[in-house]
Amino acid sequence: MDWCFSQPKIELHAHLNGSIRNSTLLELAKVLGENNVIDFADVEDVILKDDRSLVETFKLFDLIHILTTDHATVTRITKEVVEDFASENIVYLELRTTPKKNEAIGMTKRSYMEAVIKGLRAVDSVDVSLVPFDEDSITSLVSPSINCLEKDKRRKIYVRLLLSIDRRETTEAAMETVLLALAMKKMGVVGIDLSGNPIVGEWSSFLPPLTFAKEQGLCITLHCGEVYNPKEVHDMLDFQPQRIGHAICLGDEEWKKLKSYSIPVEICLTSNVRTGCVPFINDHHFVDLYKANHPIVLCTDDTGVFSTSLSREYLLAASTFGLDRAEMVKLAADAIEFVFADDGVKNALRQIFTSAKFGAL
Ligand code: 5GP
Repeated sequence: MDWCFSQPKIELHAHLNGSIRNSTLLELAKVLGENNVIDFADVEDVILKDDRSLVETFKLFDLIHILTTDHATVTRITKEVVEDFASENIVYLELRTTPKKNEAIGMTKRSYMEAVIKGLRAVDSVDVSLVPFDEDSITSLVSPSINCLEKDKRRKIYVRLLLSIDRRETTEAAMETVLLALAMKKMGVVGIDLSGNPIVGEWSSFLPPLTFAKEQGLCITLHCGEVYNPKEVHDMLDFQPQRIGHAICLGDEEWKKLKSYSIPVEICLTSNVRTGCVPFINDHHFVDLYKANHPIVLCTDDTGVFSTSLSREYLLAASTFGLDRAEMVKLAADAIEFVFADDGVKNALRQIFTSAKFGAL
């Protein structure tokens, strides 16, 4: 595991509420249990369960959302999630989350996202770079107690945000999210994700806001082909998003189209196997895409829900598909080309990966 851990890595598919520490979820559940909002024993079983189907996974998300409703909790989980990723040498993180409204506690989609940003600012175990090459904002993201010398020695993680549209949302609600993303571009928001239960919602209702987002310069990634739905997969691919996630239930025609468009695929091995979408890891489409030299990036999806980490995903790929360290290092570095951040960040990442390579010789 050593080199998988120490190798700089890029995480491009991580859902905030899916990446919460179990210990935090249990702590939050305990408080709600004591206040008789939930039955703690039932919830504890659900949280600690190892394997769950796609349907059960979405039920768990509904539960997690009950535990994480208020602003302070959103700030806390964001801080912890970023610190956890940074602790295993992730140098660039694209964190995605669905902006949520909760009138009862005065939460709007915007205030939810502000709570997320507050969490990024609260990170103190690593320097968070949220806005590119704006020295003032980078400095303001660093804890004031850290002097310049310490700052240089400290590790840094680039974080960019994707706003997710949940497939349960209406066209209007999706458009609200796109407008919010545009308004928050200067705060590190770089794109839009379409996610949520794949058997819910119609692609046609998300097309107008996604088209608008694309026209306005936001990058798009779509959860695509998690269940069998060839028409939707074709439509999604023809939309030509910058990336897609999962790409599991594709037929011959859809594979052909995906490869001809060269759309990078975010691969989430453990998630796909744990939800039963890919019954056996050895049959995972990683192999076909890797052999075809198709752009792919290893990701975690939900480190908390699927009890994994990006280092583990690298180890799993190496051991299952027989890839050596040099091949894995190349796979990790290739991800630089698929990040949604600007060229300045890409150059900085290239330098980090080059230094790591020489350091390892
Ligand atoms: P959040 O957006 O609340 O921070 O993260 C949890 C949400 O991400 C879930 O409610 C769901 O909409 C989405 N999500 C997380 N994992 C998956 C997945 O594997 N597939 C799909 N389609 N959506 C997911």
